[in-house]
Amino acid sequence: MTVAPSHHKAKALKSSSRRPAKDLCSECGLCDTYYIHYVKDACAFIHQHIAELEAEAHGRSRNLDESDDRYFGVHQDMMAARKTEPVPGAQWTGIVSSIAIEMLNRGIVEGVVCIQNTEDDRFQPKPVIARTPADVLAARVNKPTLSPNLSVLEQIEESGMKRLLVIGVGCQIQALRAVEKQLGLEKLYVLGTPCVDNVTRAGLQKFLETTSRSPDTVVHYEFMQDFRVHFKHEDGSVETVPFFGLNTKELKDVFAPSCMSCFDYVNSLADLVVGYMGAPFGWQWIVVRNDRGQDMLDLVQDQLETQPVMSQGDRRQAVQQSIPAYDKGVTLPMWAAKLMGVVIERIGPKGLEYARFSIDSHFTRNYLYLKRHHPEKLEAHVPEYAKRIVAQYTLPE
Ligand code: FAD
Ligand code: SF4
Ligand code: SF4
Repeated sequence: MTVAPSHHKAKALKSSSRRPAKDLCSECGLCDTYYIHYVKDACAFIHQHIAELEAEAHGRSRNLDESDDRYFGVHQDMMAARKTEPVPGAQWTGIVSSIAIEMLNRGIVEGVVCIQNTEDDRFQPKPVIARTPADVLAARVNKPTLSPNLSVLEQIEESGMKRLLVIGVGCQIQALRAVEKQLGLEKLYVLGTPCVDNVTRAGLQKFLETTSRSPDTVVHYEFMQDFRVHFKHEDGSVETVPFFGLNTKELKDVFAPSCMSCFDYVNSLADLVVGYMGAPFGWQWIVVRNDRGQDMLDLVQDQLETQPVMSQGDRRQAVQQSIPAYDKGVTLPMWAAKLMGVVIERIGPKGLEYARFSIDSHFTRNYLYLKRHHPEKLEAHVPEYAKRIVAQYTLPE
């Protein structure tokens, strides 16, 4: 007689329930399943243990004395890449969707956990297990809101699937790695994206209404390397708003508390990470963390043009100056914000140095947020690499 695993007896919470991580919950979806049994160990906001999970996933944890490792996590390769024939409607050039499609087409996996949207709302995430390329394509483009990706975990066990690809952001992947051994899989592939400043659906609405000239027609947006937010509208037009002109006072409470307390911007535990922030404008940034990640990238190599990563400029002064400005909620007049954007774009950090600028700005802000709102969590929740990054700057009390 086979004995059912102990998690089968656990009771999932309704999605409207209060979560064990309370206000810090990022709605990763784990607690919507019987894997809530493992929440105390698995939740990124209850038990931060990135170094230990890195060692399990990649064979080692990051070398804190090596700058690129400290910033970008364990990796064996990094590059800039773009698809020679971009996927129409993808967030960037569609490298993520293309890898997932190849893995299904070649039978390497039987399913892909990815995020489509609900019928009546293009930004409301709907996690699915895609089994065909069409299902994967229907999930292209970011749903820039908290997304319960792991809510489909029970379906994986029920389906009897043995080879799976999961696409997700850092907090989701931390919880996934912690329960990986319980999923009954023979092979799990993890394709991650960086993630920062995420919001609830209501928060997204406020952000769009505060920042865009036409909130209802935005199809996607991104905080770009040219220090502007780019909104793409239904009619194909692109609206740009300089970072420095954002209404920081209004937007301060828009980001979810989980994301104001998050230090896994670069998705430390994925096998392969596809973002943009360490690459020149228009290119995607690829971080290969282990051999499994390299195998995934190899599948689309003939669809890509690539170039080595580069780094230019010095971010530190700009980061130090932005700390009190953000803290006090300063908003520049639009003409000054545009001017500052132009100057910084010309002389400011580029490539990997831009990625470090973004990591430093968010880690210092999040460290201050946690210190003020959850001082009791500061020591255990902030990973050692993030403490070292924050220690480079002078923070207000
Ligand atoms: P596509 O082929 O369009 O595929 C996008 C994939 O994202 C889909 O497979 C879908 O399943 C998945 N997805 C969509 N919404 C979500 C969600 N809410 N949670 C989890 N998965 C989702 N990159 C950076 O370099 N810096 C950043 O600051 C940054 N912030 C991001 C914030 C969010 C919320 C997300 C989802 C991504 C972020 N990225 C960031 C990654 C970047 O925007 C692109 O997603 C990535 O470069 C892949 O582009 P693509 O064209 O290959 O993706
Ligand atoms: Fe549960 Fe995920 Fe929320 Fe943590 S972040 S409480 S694991 S749903
Ligand atoms: Fe999760 Fe961090 Fe992204 Fe928020 S910013 S959704 S906590 S990975």
